[in-house]
Amino acid sequence: MSFENKEARSHFLIFAYTSLDHPIEECYRDKVLSDIKNGKAEKGLEEKFTTALVGCSFLSKEKGKIDKATVDEWFLKKHNKISSCKAYEGTVIGLNGEGATVQTPQGQKIYKTKLKPNLKVGDSVKVHGDYVIE
Ligand SMILES: [Zn+2]
Repeated sequence: MSFENKEARSHFLIFAYTSLDHPIEECYRDKVLSDIKNGKAEKGLEEKFTTALVGCSFLSKEKGKIDKATVDEWFLKKHNKISSCKAYEGTVIGLNGEGATVQTPQGQKIYKTKLKPNLKVGDSVKVHGDYVIE
């Protein structure tokens, strides 16, 4: 099944590439994430993430296309049940050189802010693995 638009695909790929279940050198991870953010994600990149792609396709059965809300539903809800790495919605409660401290329903943790460098305390964010993704 295909994505509704470029934005939905990028959202999927950012969630996918911040997964701690996807072993990858940090410098390569950062390069791919920056390509995705800049709209330069290679064709077919999503095919590496079969479970997430099948999950999102299943959730999109009636819509016929994978949209951004479905990508959120997969990663923030379903994927947390089957994966050791988690995605949450949360609030930025602190910022320092290491990253952003984010309060989520599971507690506080410091997340990398490479994908969202201009955060402020009080911002609502989505986090996955070690990263603030949105
Ligand atoms: Zn994950």
